[in-house]
Amino acid sequence: MDFDLFVIGGGSAGVRCARISAGHGASVGIAEERHWGGTCVNIGCVPKKLLVQAGEYGGWAEDAAGFGWTITKGPHDWGKLIAAKDREITRLEGIYRKLLSGAGATIFDGRAVLVDPHTVEVAGKRVTAKNIVVATGGYPERPDIPGADLGIISDDAFYLKTMPRHIVMVGSGYIAVEFAGIFRALGAEVHLVYRQPLPLRGFDQDVRESMEEALAAQGIILHPNSTPAKVEADGDRRILALGDGRTLTTDMVFFATGRRANVKGLGLEAAGVELNSKHAIKVDDQLRTTQPHIYAMGDVTDRVNLTPVATAEGHALADSLFGGHPRTVSLRNIPSAVFTTPPVATVGLTEDQAAALWPVDVYVTRFTPMRHNLSGRARKTMMKLVVDKATQKVVGAHMLGEDAAEIIQGIAIAVVMGATKADFDRTIGIHPTAAEEFVTLRTRTRTTDLAKAAE
Ligand code: NDP
Repeated sequence: MDFDLFVIGGGSAGVRCARISAGHGASVGIAEERHWGGTCVNIGCVPKKLLVQAGEYGGWAEDAAGFGWTITKGPHDWGKLIAAKDREITRLEGIYRKLLSGAGATIFDGRAVLVDPHTVEVAGKRVTAKNIVVATGGYPERPDIPGADLGIISDDAFYLKTMPRHIVMVGSGYIAVEFAGIFRALGAEVHLVYRQPLPLRGFDQDVRESMEEALAAQGIILHPNSTPAKVEADGDRRILALGDGRTLTTDMVFFATGRRANVKGLGLEAAGVELNSKHAIKVDDQLRTTQPHIYAMGDVTDRVNLTPVATAEGHALADSLFGGHPRTVSLRNIPSAVFTTPPVATVGLTEDQAAALWPVDVYVTRFTPMRHNLSGRARKTMMKLVVDKATQKVVGAHMLGEDAAEIIQGIAIAVVMGATKADFDRTIGIHPTAAEEFVTLRTRTRTTDLAKAAE
């Protein structure tokens, strides 16, 4: 065999797995056909956060007047922002490459395809490996409606030459609400079209209600209970027809309607690797596919599609195969954030998920952040704890508000450790902060007991 390990895909999962395996002394090959660092670094989390930050300055410039500053807000230069973003992403991509070669992995720039269970064809060469990892990620999917190709997807959004002044976003998951916030903060008129009564299906109800309010407060025009039916072109303009017969004419339709595992044309069948009902690679809890020496991780398994999960899986597999330290990654209590303005962050169970298991004590607070009593900006914070009534363990923490992601990361440690409400209560707050509210939630808002309610 040419390699102990061959990794297909140089994204968060693949790079981490290759780098750590090589560090453990394995001979490692890794192939990437598009950009090192994958979706997160190039067309996902990282550039998205830079765009979110760009939007925030506009709000701060306006807020400053309440604090005595005279700041005249000029127009935003999208081209300059994208050029700065591109420079930063090129820098990061270079770091990813350097980390891999520094660790001793052999890098292949090109598409890798499985030829048989131990052979990969890449860049016109055939190489063999004892173990293979498929970490090819996912791609954004357009809905199956006429004219869908006239709309853009998130991959395109990072390379727009100019920023449209009028945008219709379709969907209300992570990507839809994040980009709605970005474009609105940079000055566009933004419409959000979604099928549910509230955005962010799957999130806690209080988060969803607060998100609806926050999007509206930002000036985003909401179209709940709406489905896209057809897109047509009228010159440079786009006309989105909705299921109820209404139409929206816009500069750009942006589909943020979910992502699919990237499994096409990889030779998975030839290698004996099966897919599950979601057309993602089927894996067990050791990340083994139906071919025991072939592993899959990250978005291509479509389980929890988050970069830190992918990197944790990559690291765990490398330690298990070559580090003499077999381990798995728990998919429980994974914190995540939605980088809207303000952001949402959450860890653990929603109230409904928890209350389906046991009666829960619920603590909710809503307030105007101190800064905005002076700035005058209509911006609210919502914080919530979901507590198992019997054990008093905090099983869920949810926040919409400034710095939510930074705050919930710390709270997540307590939740993962199994902290009780009493542990939160005996923790002294840091004053004055928003975060201190999590340790001063004295008054229970309600007890939710679904079993009792059903009686
Ligand atoms: P999500 O799965 O989060 O949301 C998809 C959205 O598209 C939902 O609102 C869904 O509506 C809607 N939708 C799906 N199909 C159709 C259709 N045919 N017509 C109309 N609406 C449709 O996907 P995203 O694309 O936003 O993100 C993909 C994943 O990437 C996320 O789930 C997350 O794991 C990850 N991600 C994480 C980020 C972070 O951590 N900050 C940022 C970006 C992405 P409905 O609810 O009705 O099904």
